[in-house]
Amino acid sequence: MSKALPKKSENYSEWYNELVKRADLAENSAVRGCMVIKPYGYSIWEKMQRALDDMFKETGHQNAYFPLFIPKSYLSKEASHVEGFAKECAVVTHYRLKNDPNGGGVIVDPEAKLEEELIVRPTSETVIWSTYKNWIQSYRDLPLLINQWANVVRWEMRTRLFLRTAEFLWQEGHTAHATKEEAVAETEQMLEIYATFAEEFMAVPVIRGRKTPNERFAGAEDTYCIEAMMQDGKALQAGTSHFLGQNFAKAFDVKFLNKENKQDFVWGTSWGVSTRLMGALVMAHSDDEGLVLPPKLAPIQVVIVPIFKGDEQLAQISEKVNPIVKELKKRGISVKFDNSDKQSPGFKFAEYELKGVPVRLAIGARDLANGTIEVARRDTKQKATYQIDSIVESIVNLLDEIQENIYNKALQFRTDNTAKIDNWDDFVKILDEKPGFISAHWDGTSETEEKIKELTKATIRCIPLDAVDEEGVCIYSGKPSSRRVIFARAY
Ligand code: AMP
Repeated sequence: MSKALPKKSENYSEWYNELVKRADLAENSAVRGCMVIKPYGYSIWEKMQRALDDMFKETGHQNAYFPLFIPKSYLSKEASHVEGFAKECAVVTHYRLKNDPNGGGVIVDPEAKLEEELIVRPTSETVIWSTYKNWIQSYRDLPLLINQWANVVRWEMRTRLFLRTAEFLWQEGHTAHATKEEAVAETEQMLEIYATFAEEFMAVPVIRGRKTPNERFAGAEDTYCIEAMMQDGKALQAGTSHFLGQNFAKAFDVKFLNKENKQDFVWGTSWGVSTRLMGALVMAHSDDEGLVLPPKLAPIQVVIVPIFKGDEQLAQISEKVNPIVKELKKRGISVKFDNSDKQSPGFKFAEYELKGVPVRLAIGARDLANGTIEVARRDTKQKATYQIDSIVESIVNLLDEIQENIYNKALQFRTDNTAKIDNWDDFVKILDEKPGFISAHWDGTSETEEKIKELTKATIRCIPLDAVDEEGVCIYSGKPSSRRVIFARAY
């Protein structure tokens, strides 16, 4: 058996990196910041994709695909957009290699220089809006509700598996509307879809909010986000939904004939979640034994491990287990009967614990005689003996219970690690002593926000959508403030 994982409480960061690798989710590749997503990790991502894709389609969106390469000139059409992304762009300058005549191996052919350099997309607003110009003529063409599943590249300096990679997988929605109200409603709707997905599928409670102007997406008028708390108390921005105003429509000249027969620019939104969600899932729930997966996203929801000596006993157990497997599958539950004799039951137990399988059933000769089966929950590590006759019903209920319990545990953790703070000394102290979310007053200026970040590394995660009006004074400047915002150190 491989050695134990680093302890979460001792070295959170090491624990996370090791867990991602040991649980076969992903590994680093030859190119810094790029990762290989392994089959087990990818099957979780596929489950995420499926659930999100269903929700996008239920709300009228369609999938399409736009190219990986963007002409460099496109990126500069929206001034703040290019400013935001210029620092992390991968650029294609040549299209051919050749053998070095001086024996230096394969080199870039200097004669194969592109006339216009290409950007590897860091996000696709520019290429998509240049296309929308041809797709939109009148109000009848609106709203245009498109999503794409793709990879993007942002040349990030400090990377970490899933949470921040140079190339990542995501979906990006890009919509165009006839009115500002419709575009704002779309921005809010997509945020709510992300929040629902995080809470109901990932079992991760999130705060719905807006970013401050400082933290807005480059080219957006308003950025909405969901913020989640990881088990070290740090925040993770788990999804964003942007109201683009008419910025991209103006940059790419996307006009439409409105109902009054007048030309007007369309209103836009864009929204995305990425493979970062995989990191959130791991960081929010897992423990020192391995992953703890919510049943709705677990590739294997139930594993059955027979405890047997010899083929005859295995045959007897299989006879009992096979109909259970069949019945569980009929209920849409993914189940694995691990009847291999290559590993011991103890080895298998540890392996499925590491992989976060929510429910493990074990059945041996004594269970056969008694009509029972042992049920172990991954979330609480509790074991119990169940009647085999009603095991299918029991498991269906248990999976729901586990999903709910994982969510409630994460919610309780967030509640326990969220503090209302009203003076600077306490603010600084709690960040080191009990990291988490801090609800505090802010004077609304970028200068104060920057200063607090510089002094404490804490950033304003969001202005919560449900923030109530409350007169107070800024935690740092003492100037008046009318509502609290959420501060935290973040990934
Ligand atoms: P943005 O386009 O910047 O609003 O980001 C859209 C989504 O991608 C957000 O949910 C981010 O959390 C996520 N994201 C941004 N940068 C990265 C990265 N380097 N690696 C993984 N996910 C990212």
